[in-house]
Amino acid sequence: MSACERDTPPAHIAGPLLRWFDDHGRHDLPWQHPRSAYRVWVAEIMLQQTQVVTVVDYFNAFMTRFPDIQTLAAADNDAVMAHWAGLGYYARARNLHAAAKRVVAEHGGRFPTSVEQLMRLPGIGRSTAGAIVAQAFGIWAPILDGNAKRVIARLAAVTETPGTAAFEKPLWRLAERYTPNRRITDYTQAIMDLGATVCTRARPQCTRCPLHKDCLAARYDLQPRIPAPRKRKARPQREVTVIVASDDQGRILLEKRPPSGIWGGLWSLPEQEADLSIVAFCRHRLGIEIEPGARLSPIAHAFTHFELLIHPQKVQVIGSARIMDSSLQWYARDRLPGLPAPMARVLDTHQHAFAL
Ligand code: SF4
Repeated sequence: MSACERDTPPAHIAGPLLRWFDDHGRHDLPWQHPRSAYRVWVAEIMLQQTQVVTVVDYFNAFMTRFPDIQTLAAADNDAVMAHWAGLGYYARARNLHAAAKRVVAEHGGRFPTSVEQLMRLPGIGRSTAGAIVAQAFGIWAPILDGNAKRVIARLAAVTETPGTAAFEKPLWRLAERYTPNRRITDYTQAIMDLGATVCTRARPQCTRCPLHKDCLAARYDLQPRIPAPRKRKARPQREVTVIVASDDQGRILLEKRPPSGIWGGLWSLPEQEADLSIVAFCRHRLGIEIEPGARLSPIAHAFTHFELLIHPQKVQVIGSARIMDSSLQWYARDRLPGLPAPMARVLDTHQHAFAL
């Protein structure tokens, strides 16, 4: 048994962590003022996979358009997706909208106050439910988001691979032990802030850390090994061709994607089906006659499970281009709806190719 394995992690962390938080934590995040279950919930969902600095502007715009859960529940799915466009991981927005409808229909628009009930709503796992309960209602509940996981795994020198039971189980036990009965709202923000600003993935600033004295990773120089990298399989590659059709007014043809799957429910450049030529696809699926133009340079985009190479194919529409299908629509370049980030990149990168 190594010295590290014989050592024990700190018994408590709330005291020094809260003192550090008072001076160095984040106290001016928009969802803290005012702090309601609705605002905390939207922020927590946006913060899954996305950093605070990116989320703030999206959050503010979202609150302006959907100031309360009733407005969100009653909104058109298009409007919700448009306000999520660019944030990525669009299942989050679909789940958010579905959960808002459930809270209104089943709970009279009031958020459940228990972790168990919250976890029955779409898109809310144990850590998100804990963060809502602790931050919105001040009720004791542990969290274990990515930041808290990194801090606790390092404090206790848990070197197992994240995602495995050998990693997750002891971490939840420690998260429960460390979560205090007082100042639960501040503690929840504090552990997230420490992970985001001091106990960072690369080059943690241990000498500035309020938990340095008792941290096993710092004691045994294990910070670079914790959390252990996940064993990644090689990501498969997919290639698609998207049609960039412009009419005689310079408008771009967009297609609404099916509700599930990548970019579900968002407007996007039409994706050519592999079994049809460009001309046949445009005629039969999009209802337009075209002259194929240049094949533009591709755009690469990495998803969690695969890499997508997007080949934009420019086409010029011949004759009238009246679209009869409600999932297709012409948009002026300056009035585009929210597009998936890679599609916006296609249009930005190649804008010279569409100039009238
Ligand atoms: S001492 Fe270093 S590794 Fe340990 S919790 Fe603090 S920042 Fe993280």
